[in-house]
Amino acid sequence: MSSELTGKIAIVTGGATGIGRATVEHFVREGARVVIADVNRDEGKALADSLDASAVFRETDVSDIGEVRALVDFAVQTFGGLDVLVNNAGISGPIYASFLDDDLEAFDKIFAINLRAVMVGTQAAAKYMAENGGGAIINTSSIGGIMAGRGVITYRASKAAVIHFTKSAAIDLGVHGIRVNCLAPGSIPTTLLESSTTELEGEERDAMISSVRSTQSKKRPLNREGTVDDAAEAAVYLASDRARYVTGAVLRVDGGTAAGSTMTT
Ligand code: NAD
Repeated sequence: MSSELTGKIAIVTGGATGIGRATVEHFVREGARVVIADVNRDEGKALADSLDASAVFRETDVSDIGEVRALVDFAVQTFGGLDVLVNNAGISGPIYASFLDDDLEAFDKIFAINLRAVMVGTQAAAKYMAENGGGAIINTSSIGGIMAGRGVITYRASKAAVIHFTKSAAIDLGVHGIRVNCLAPGSIPTTLLESSTTELEGEERDAMISSVRSTQSKKRPLNREGTVDDAAEAAVYLASDRARYVTGAVLRVDGGTAAGSTMTT
């Protein structure tokens, strides 16, 4: 039996579906106990129930500062400590046909979930970890935070900010034995992309989805789409003691997409 995370206590935000769900499953398989934090109560609770005593669900809206802070207290009270926080919850916001249609309401929501929650969660967890032997924090950025491109401009900006926040937090928190790293997945089929195209309809929507997917796949040196397990296994590494000397890093899990162009000219 593998045991990369035996004895560790973790929180995974956005753990009910997609990459977060796979992360919860891999963490439990590796011996961790996990608090699943999500707004999706049905899927989050069902996942926790399927994992018996190794996981509990805590309904949490990470855009609510008080709920994020209470989440850390909940993990400590429930499992007796906190070793790992995965700030995974994220939204891409609506994809518009043009940036000219973009709106500020979406901007505020995206930044509240994708960046402010990362800051609040990191600070709340670090306050506990600093007094209790350190820990590991993993913030989910995106290839969109590394590469500029058309569409989801606010999302890209929020994910770029997550990278810089992570590096700076790593420098600040290293003295307390707290490692802070970024996971930057490439395009992985989850509900994220579909849920961000609600402002488009019919052919325009289908074209946008297939355009994002095919542009990305043409650029991938490993020539296949990523999976939620690809990302989750990288999170296991960053959470584990194997990564004990790794902090302030951005681990791309993108099949090589951001390494450079696969075009010959
Ligand atoms: P997903 O939509 O399947 O999962 C996101 C989860 O976050 C959902 O369970 C959702 O309910 C939860 N969530 C959304 N808003 C929340 C809130 N306010 N409070 C708590 N939970 C909330 O999408 P995913 O692809 O698994 O995304 C996970 C992370 O990976 C996100 O941060 C996303 O930006 C990042 N990411 C995804 C991809 C991709 O291609 N799928 C690529 C790069 C980065």
